[in-house]
Amino acid sequence: MEERLTKKEAQNWLKCMFATYTTRDAIAQLADIGFKAFYTHIRSVMHAKYGILETTTCSSCSTPSKQCRLCSEIGNQIWDNHRFKKAKLKGPSWNNTDTTQWCTESWELAKCYMPSTGYRDKPNANSTDFNGIIGAIYNCIWMQCYFTDDLSKDSNICTKAREEVNELRHLQGMDICDGDMISFFDCLLNLLNDPAHLFSFKPAADARTYLKQLQQDSLPLSEKAVKRTLKKIYEDRTEEFRGRLIQFYTTTKKTVSVSPLREGRDKPIWDVFVQPKLSHVIMEKDGTRKKTENVVHQYKELFYKDEMLNNRVFLQGEPGMGKTTFLNKLALDWCNAVSEHNPDHKATFSDVDTLKEFRFLFQISLRDAIDQRDVLEMIKTQIIDMIYTGDKREETAKLLPQIMEREPCIIIMDGLNEWVDQSEFLYTLNKLTTLYLRGIYTGRCDLKLPASLQCIGLQKCECSSEWLYSLLITLSSFDHPVKCVLLVETPLETN
Ligand SMILES: [Zn+2]
Repeated sequence: MEERLTKKEAQNWLKCMFATYTTRDAIAQLADIGFKAFYTHIRSVMHAKYGILETTTCSSCSTPSKQCRLCSEIGNQIWDNHRFKKAKLKGPSWNNTDTTQWCTESWELAKCYMPSTGYRDKPNANSTDFNGIIGAIYNCIWMQCYFTDDLSKDSNICTKAREEVNELRHLQGMDICDGDMISFFDCLLNLLNDPAHLFSFKPAADARTYLKQLQQDSLPLSEKAVKRTLKKIYEDRTEEFRGRLIQFYTTTKKTVSVSPLREGRDKPIWDVFVQPKLSHVIMEKDGTRKKTENVVHQYKELFYKDEMLNNRVFLQGEPGMGKTTFLNKLALDWCNAVSEHNPDHKATFSDVDTLKEFRFLFQISLRDAIDQRDVLEMIKTQIIDMIYTGDKREETAKLLPQIMEREPCIIIMDGLNEWVDQSEFLYTLNKLTTLYLRGIYTGRCDLKLPASLQCIGLQKCECSSEWLYSLLITLSSFDHPVKCVLLVETPLETN
């Protein structure tokens, strides 16, 4: 066992995690039974009120505005049973649920009562975490019939357990003192002891027995159990992060800027996206690149070569050809592939399932990472910091190296041509004695060329003036002179 986990406080923390998973298992079984009964209840209400037979089912209504009588009535019942449906409160989490499964999967009803992200792809109680289960139980008024405690009060056995577990999840480090552990266990035991149903419910009774033994130290934590729990914690955190990541991309990548000169003039990606014509480029021995007739039709052809996953893929093209749009679309295709979100989503290539093999996709803009070298650092600044605040931010940043090590990931780096990594750059240019510059340079060039700069040349150059300046400055720092030939088509606008 890891050294840090043998400390008393760390063992307390582990016990609290064990207790959470055990309690979750018990209440998940209650929720499963409860929502099956909820569906039956809804159908009997509908039969009594509207005469809709309980044997009638529907699996074709996917658009809420165009639902049949049956589906829209189920929707009304879900709404009516939501605890927080009044003005300004969110009400049911419709985006979690697949409406076409309302008549066959009662868990699709339960999902309407869970937090609005991270539960869409959880098909049953078993795959749902504590927060999702407790949300479904607490937010659905009908579930009150399984409890003696008054769940309409702001503070009740469900909200208390939810708070304690959330606090545990967001805890910095892995230390819990004895007092905090005892109150944590008390809170979960209170929930499992509720007389109406849980007290005599076997899974809850078993969970109580286990929790009491665990708390009294009579059960030593086996190495295997610790490993299993740590793995589960990792899984939970990764899943949560993945859910947030998908949400982040689906909200931020769906528009593209139409004009680089005017900020805020964004259009939906669907309006500007055109199917790209991508062909393979082969690199000759002398370093020249040759475009082939070999057209890319599938994601598989992009990511694999002879059944082997490519470590790196470079996407090359003239400015304005839509490379960024293609990459944004790739991120959206991934979201859709891994979360089965929108049936109307049209993927760039038909084999969108290829993207399912990648558990994570990180898209970063190198334009916004001029001073950074470390990919982890870039993901942290451009993604994690945008998604999370406070402790959660730190926790996810710590999780990131583990994800990169264990999970298949796609890392998209957009804007390589604009990215200058100074140290690497210096290294490559160190041997340079002559450089030819040829191209069109935009922006004002009011740089005084360093005295040691003798000759410079770039055959074809698309770069910002900042990039050019930094190049010149770098060159002037060498201890040997560099010959510079300026072949300017349009003269530099000097001042
Ligand atoms: Zn229907």
